[in-house]
Amino acid sequence: MSERREAIERAMAHFEKLLAEQMDRVERMKAAEDWIDYSKVDPIVIGVVGGDGIGPYISGEAKKVLEYLLRNEVKAGKVEIRNIAGLSIEERARAMKAIPDGVIEELKRCHAILKGPLTTPKKGDPWPNLESANVAMRRELDLFANVRPVKVPSQGIDWIFFRENTEGAYILGSQGLNVNDEIAFDFKVITNPGAERIVKLAFEHAKKNGIDRVTAVTKANVIKTSDGKFLEVARKVAEKYPGIELDEWFIDIMAAKLVDPKRRTQFRVVVLPNLYGDIITDEAAEFQGGVGTAGSANIGKRYAMFEAIHGSAPRMVEEGRAQYADPSSMMRAAVMLLGHIGFVEEAKRLEMALDICSQHEKKVVLTGRQDGATGAEFADYVMETLHDPDLEGKWKGYQS
Ligand code: NAD
Repeated sequence: MSERREAIERAMAHFEKLLAEQMDRVERMKAAEDWIDYSKVDPIVIGVVGGDGIGPYISGEAKKVLEYLLRNEVKAGKVEIRNIAGLSIEERARAMKAIPDGVIEELKRCHAILKGPLTTPKKGDPWPNLESANVAMRRELDLFANVRPVKVPSQGIDWIFFRENTEGAYILGSQGLNVNDEIAFDFKVITNPGAERIVKLAFEHAKKNGIDRVTAVTKANVIKTSDGKFLEVARKVAEKYPGIELDEWFIDIMAAKLVDPKRRTQFRVVVLPNLYGDIITDEAAEFQGGVGTAGSANIGKRYAMFEAIHGSAPRMVEEGRAQYADPSSMMRAAVMLLGHIGFVEEAKRLEMALDICSQHEKKVVLTGRQDGATGAEFADYVMETLHDPDLEGKWKGYQS
């Protein structure tokens, strides 16, 4: 067989295997159980994963706040907060696995997970080139929706992004193919059930919150097949929500319009495939004060995981600045966790305290360096604010 033919055959065998896996995944999605009802779960188990780099610092502070807000439920045995070990980069490298054996079972014993950032090795790092533990966790727990709110009331910004989390350009990110020395291929997958469940979640959010428009972002004019399918599914879902308009944008112009002060306030609920969601949400977070201030939720029907939108910030650790990292991102993630499992009042209190501390009163200011406060000092400030009997009055005072 010629070299050329051999390369084509190898590629076809590789593609065949991927196709079979994706067809199985579609069947699993179709057969998936319905949404968990947290009001019927006793006890609700919250797992805390410290993470790498600045992770243990900031997730430790967020855990303290969570333990304080849920102290009565923990005492009554209605909520259990437990640490999940085994996911540090050292442990993953030792096991040579994105998620070491046994840890996934530990995670599956939890109902909600608060996760610090995990380092993903890249070429040239001292670690084996493992798959991202974050991507693996989203896939293993079928956390299909990455939900990221961004709010800047003073600029009229009130966005919530629904990023598809389990397909698109990322799901086969480690399974691309070097067909020969000269040709590299990656794969991008969009499926009907995958697109439908994320678009539906976005429309449901709009409906519940009285918002009359959902923006879908693709590049369907160029990536016609997969992005085309995402848009086609979005149009079909939209038909079932009379009164809510589907607003269609292409990713390039959307990225531009987010910096247009006149246009950007019109966006409210935005739904996007994986890669576009990743990029746009980091851009969006900059308006709120940078990635250190934003949390995100990874939601599936049975499990949910809450995290910061940033990574493990290795440079901060190398420069001895880990203790100055901003824990607000993990605390914002805790706000979303509390709301998701039904502690709406506690979520609201923590959100108000964070708004007061980081956007209005600013008695303790973080700079990420020695000239600012430490994350622990900021956490103490948040706790003090939470203790204020007139927390809501104070917060309302800042809104007018
Ligand atoms: P990063 O997000 O870790 O950090 C970039 C910069 O942002 C930092 O150098 C720091 O200046 C700033 N920053 C981030 N978080 C901060 C905080 N809480 N307080 C103050 N400043 C903060 O980006 P990176 O360097 O590209 O990624 C580092 C590692 O994290 C990589 O291995 C990457 O794969 C991983 N990562 C993990 C997740 C996740 O766990 N979900 C997300 C993104 C990146």
